[in-house]
Amino acid sequence: MTEQQPKNRLMLDAAETKKLLEEAGIPFVETRLARAKKEAASLSREIGFPVVLKIVSPDVVHKSDAGGVKAGLANTAQVLKAYTGIISNVKRKLPGARIEGIAVQKMARPGVEVIIGMSEDAQFGPFIMFGLGGIWVEVLKDITFRVIPVTAWDAAEMVREIKGFDILRGYRGQEPIDVPFLEKLIIKVSDFIEKNPQVKELDINPLVAYGKGAVAVDARIIIEPSMEGAK
Ligand code: ADP
Ligand code: MG
Repeated sequence: MTEQQPKNRLMLDAAETKKLLEEAGIPFVETRLARAKKEAASLSREIGFPVVLKIVSPDVVHKSDAGGVKAGLANTAQVLKAYTGIISNVKRKLPGARIEGIAVQKMARPGVEVIIGMSEDAQFGPFIMFGLGGIWVEVLKDITFRVIPVTAWDAAEMVREIKGFDILRGYRGQEPIDVPFLEKLIIKVSDFIEKNPQVKELDINPLVAYGKGAVAVDARIIIEPSMEGAK
């Protein structure tokens, strides 16, 4: 159920993750936590349709696999139904998972999904990863790596050396993606890791990229708290 972590590692919750990324200068889609069905409906109306509902649980790492994500909800009735559906899916697929609530997110308009990640290598230390998201990363493993800290030059190379760069440049009428913005975000993640060495893993998957700007809709941060227990 829970992914195995070294004993002293800790996955930050969704709210802390969003806050840290925003502090690092990485835009995150509007997200609110609902603890009951009616609250999910009222938050959806506040955020504005269409919305996405997602399970919030420290025990659910792959939310879609657990039936924990419902996207494209266009009205209150759909939100109420999605809420019940998510809770029952998760209870069935991951019995015993602690459920903290359901996140209500604004539905990001379609763009090109990319991934920015960070992890540590025993030999080289912290490194950053960039690639296309969705099936591109799962099937084609079209990703590239650099040791942190990355320079502006590294970031420019990373974006250009993936096989899918043509997709970022625009194909079949799709808008060309804001590549300089992606380069800046790679550097921001690198800076964030340098300033926060307690962060051992970070995954922004996906970041939805547009002709102008980009927005993260899912992220995960794993830290190793210091001796003082400070997060
Ligand atoms: P997980 O990776 O845990 O399965 P995600 O939060 O990444 O869950 O959601 C799964 C997929 O749903 C994403 O890869 C993305 O394609 C889509 N998605 C999630 N949230 C949004 C959103 N706010 N707007 C648009 N699409 C979204
Ligand atoms: Mg995801």
